Amino acid sequence: MGAGESPMMDSAYSLTPEEIAAAVEACGEKPWRAAQVCQWLYGGRAERWDAMTNVPAALRQAMAGRLRDLDGTARVREVAAEGGATTKLLLGLHDGEMIETVIIPARDRNTVCVSSQVGCAFRCAFCASGLHGVARSLSCGEIVAQVVRAAQRIGRRPDNVVFMGIGEPFANYDAVLKAARLMNDPRGLGIGARKITISTCGVVPGIERLADEGTQFELSVSLHAPTQALREKLMPVASQWSLDALMAACRDYTAQTNRIITFEYTLVAGFNDRPEHARLLVALLRGLKCRVNLIPLNPVKEFAGEAPDPRDCEDFLAFLERHGVNTTLRRSKGRGVNASCGQLRLRAFQR
Ligand code: SAH
Repeated sequence: MGAGESPMMDSAYSLTPEEIAAAVEACGEKPWRAAQVCQWLYGGRAERWDAMTNVPAALRQAMAGRLRDLDGTARVREVAAEGGATTKLLLGLHDGEMIETVIIPARDRNTVCVSSQVGCAFRCAFCASGLHGVARSLSCGEIVAQVVRAAQRIGRRPDNVVFMGIGEPFANYDAVLKAARLMNDPRGLGIGARKITISTCGVVPGIERLADEGTQFELSVSLHAPTQALREKLMPVASQWSLDALMAACRDYTAQTNRIITFEYTLVAGFNDRPEHARLLVALLRGLKCRVNLIPLNPVKEFAGEAPDPRDCEDFLAFLERHGVNTTLRRSKGRGVNASCGQLRLRAFQR
């Protein structure tokens, strides 16, 4: 925490352009100064209030007195990179907690994978994020700051954002939606809504709320199994919201929004990667506007499952495609940098 900062201070990246305008007005400054501040926050990517050289000093001081300093929201503590593949940022928060942000380059695009909570309460069997439960949710500013840090690192605005880092976005719904809107706002980061994906483990009320928002954000649902019995073995959330309830919410979502859902399906050898599972999955998704993203398990030592043979992954993919399900297979990168969710934070946690 910087000198003079109080733990109650909000992050500068938590304010909407309207809220920045109100703060500017409260300082007795002209409204157009708000645009300058936004420009520094998101375009110029200033790291300190002092760096906003064309903003009057009194305004800078007033902002600094009310809001956390820009580099105090999420400081880069460690960078793990692997030759041209993913770069992972370990970020320290003002209260000493740590989160991860991953930059994934693909061709000429960069995708940033952001965290929504410190840890996760949902404890999916293969996911390192849930091993120690959840400490707290992130503020809107802590979420937005991750994209700013990634932009600083790559030297330009990222093309895509996915809420697939640590945490369950719908367990922190308000901050996540506000952050996504700020990322999308042309006065903020200006990333297209359809380039921002929110991924849920299956929190049904979150899916229902998102359907009502009227936004164009992408929705991804972590399915991982085609039956209730199998899904419960991997994902405790399935006993809270059943597969039937989840699929009903997904069908309502697509009907209401006319948008497609992406189902994430992590393939675990012998567990959910057999031809019968592919058959059951095709039946489950029949008539639903969706696509499937297959992810071969990224093994973690706390989970006994193994990644399938690449041939089984290709067969699973081919079966789905043959039956008219639009499917992609993620040929995973970045194991060497602990690229799967929560692994870097976990390592730091265990040091
Ligand atoms: N809580 C949200 C977002 C975070 S996880 C959700 O569950 O969707 C992002 C995706 O990575 C999820 O589909 C998750 O199940 C998957 N994942 C987590 N650990 C993994 C691992 N070890 N191997 C493969 N996929 C994993």
